[in-house]
Amino acid sequence: MISDAEVKLSFDVDVQGLKIVRGDATVDVTLECQRCWENYSHRCEIEFIYCPVVNDDQADDLPDAYEPAIVDENGEINLIQLVEDELIVALPQVAMHKEEDCKVNSENMVYGEIPLADERPNPFAVLKNFKQSNEE
Ligand SMILES: [Zn+2]
Repeated sequence: MISDAEVKLSFDVDVQGLKIVRGDATVDVTLECQRCWENYSHRCEIEFIYCPVVNDDQADDLPDAYEPAIVDENGEINLIQLVEDELIVALPQVAMHKEEDCKVNSENMVYGEIPLADERPNPFAVLKNFKQSNEE
């Protein structure tokens, strides 16, 4: 399930004469928690400043704060595509509840017992076995 994205855009010319598109976007998506496998809703919010450019050289010259938006053969940029791509990138790489909201809490996350220091096998024990088997 996915809500309509709420997008705000404002168009401007900066002090250097660069045309910019500044804005933000919010969308509610349903993600599947990778820890407990339940769906949960996640609000994805992004902010951006795009600057239309004709090629990569122009893109390289942009101030760091601006993201290049390559124009197509008609000199246009596809704003919907840009915002959509940006939202997809902003989604969490591993979808997971916040720990306090998740059914699987961290106490259940321990896999097996962690041995105490003095219960750990002696790293030289294997050498002892090796020596014995050679003597046989
Ligand atoms: Zn969860």
